[in-house]
Amino acid sequence: MNPLQLKLQRKISESSVRGQTGSCWIWNRQISNSGYGRMAVPTRDGTLTESAHRISYLAFVGPLKQDDVVQQTCGNRLCVNPDHLILADASQHGDAA
Ligand SMILES: [Zn+2]
Repeated sequence: MNPLQLKLQRKISESSVRGQTGSCWIWNRQISNSGYGRMAVPTRDGTLTESAHRISYLAFVGPLKQDDVVQQTCGNRLCVNPDHLILADASQHGDAA
């Protein structure tokens, strides 16, 4: 695991509220207009603002392509629990209830 992933994991842990094992990790920092958590990530070129659940996927699960869509299986837009995150087929985006 690379150092950036560890750093992001720590940041996500600090920025979310966890209940019992298996429950949602609720983002408690910045929230976007669409209701998703937002997170500023330092990059070589400055700061990138990304959806918190996407960053969580990157940090805990693995690499993402720019057009990959990450969805919460629990349906909670503020959830950043990597166990609740799946890569969605872009063609199915929007169908998940
Ligand atoms: Zn969840």
